[in-house]
Amino acid sequence: MLQQDLHIHTTYSTWDSSVVPEQTIALVASLKHARIVGISDHLENLGDGVFERYVLEIRQAGLKVGVEVDGHAWVAEATGRDVDYYLFHCRDHDADYRSLDRLLATGKPVILAHPNTLYTNLNRVPGACLIEINNRYVWRTNWKHFYGPFKHCFNFVIGSDAHQPNWLGQAAAHFAADQLGIKEHLVF
Ligand SMILES: [Zn+2]
Ligand SMILES: [Zn+2]
Repeated sequence: MLQQDLHIHTTYSTWDSSVVPEQTIALVASLKHARIVGISDHLENLGDGVFERYVLEIRQAGLKVGVEVDGHAWVAEATGRDVDYYLFHCRDHDADYRSLDRLLATGKPVILAHPNTLYTNLNRVPGACLIEINNRYVWRTNWKHFYGPFKHCFNFVIGSDAHQPNWLGQAAAHFAADQLGIKEHLVF
């Protein structure tokens, strides 16, 4: 069993074509692939009414409530939502770096989602942010080059970014973390 997986999508990510209809919160919860499991669907799919159902269903399943926030345009809405943690798409824009302070001010954990694919400049990221090594994307970039220089600057979180039940794994991300000498940070 994995220690932690806080990057998981479900059928609530209705605009995300990679999610299969079987990827329900109930199914993810039943698989018990990690000791700590959090659901992190896209905030833009969780409008009023939907968000309340989302939170209720996750809490009833005994999982952590996260959202994946797509840059600065969604930060005002994100800070008003009752979640346990944020995953944030931080592109290399001033407004996205400024958004990190607003998210951190909530006191909730802020995880930078797959920064290696978003060209996030980690030199501009506050040390209080958590940096994700993401099983879906880590192998698609030069991860040694991207993460290596920062391995002593941040705490790192490993996530599956699963959109389908068979994606609930972290083998590639753990391999990269081990090679880098990075120890996974447990958020909860
Ligand atoms: Zn993402
Ligand atoms: Zn995601």
